[in-house]
Amino acid sequence: MQVVSLASGSSGNATLVQGESGALLIDAGISQRSVVQRITQLGTPLETLRGIVITHEHGDHITSAVALAQRYHVPIFASHGTLHALAVASHIRTVPLQALQPLLIDDIHITPIPVSHDAAEPMAIKVQLKSVCAVIATDLGVWDECLVDACTDADLVVIEANHERERLHLSSYAPHLKLRIASARGHLDNIQAGLFLARIAHNKRRRHAWLAHLSQEANSGDLAIRSVRTVLRMHQAEQYFATITPLPRNQHVVWGAEQRSSQSCFLDDL
Ligand SMILES: [Zn+2]
Ligand SMILES: [Zn+2]
Repeated sequence: MQVVSLASGSSGNATLVQGESGALLIDAGISQRSVVQRITQLGTPLETLRGIVITHEHGDHITSAVALAQRYHVPIFASHGTLHALAVASHIRTVPLQALQPLLIDDIHITPIPVSHDAAEPMAIKVQLKSVCAVIATDLGVWDECLVDACTDADLVVIEANHERERLHLSSYAPHLKLRIASARGHLDNIQAGLFLARIAHNKRRRHAWLAHLSQEANSGDLAIRSVRTVLRMHQAEQYFATITPLPRNQHVVWGAEQRSSQSCFLDDL
């Protein structure tokens, strides 16, 4: 299994999960053209796309979902609440996801994990192929033990580290937006992300972490990784992470399960 971040952040989120014979797109928050270009760059034929999994209905996760589903004749998978909010035309096939109920798509098991966010029925997504497991959790105001449990066997954990709390307060965002972002149904800050990673390290499993959905104004890759590593050091948990990578907005980051420690990053030419 290979996991590729195609885009991350409030300007668009999309993650490709490649199995042995097919691929899944988790969120499609960038243009159809960008998705096609970026997946083609990876050498993955779009015809192997088996479905599009949508975590929730916010614009930065759904931009090209319907267009791609239509073009490649694949279903959209999402919770009942998300599907209802999306109001997809009836000629697009949709498959409802039930919280904590695994579903096999091609050779990839996906399990939706409920999260706290200001959307209809938002989910984090756990993906598994044989013994390899990744969890993708963005857009959540707080984390809970349900998400911790989902990460027990995860080799790769993608966790939101949206903002540095101090920077958010000093940012130019409107007061109501700052409150929304910092709320329990908003976005995780760097410290919360660090505490989550420290918590999942309790089982002493060594793994990889990606820091996702970084705010352009209220965070930076350097700041996110510094804050997260400080929290992990305070909890003697840093050694359980082989790599910790802040995801760039518009560059691919590739995690390959073959070695379970390989990771590469290359510039997007868009
Ligand atoms: Zn988002
Ligand atoms: Zn959202």
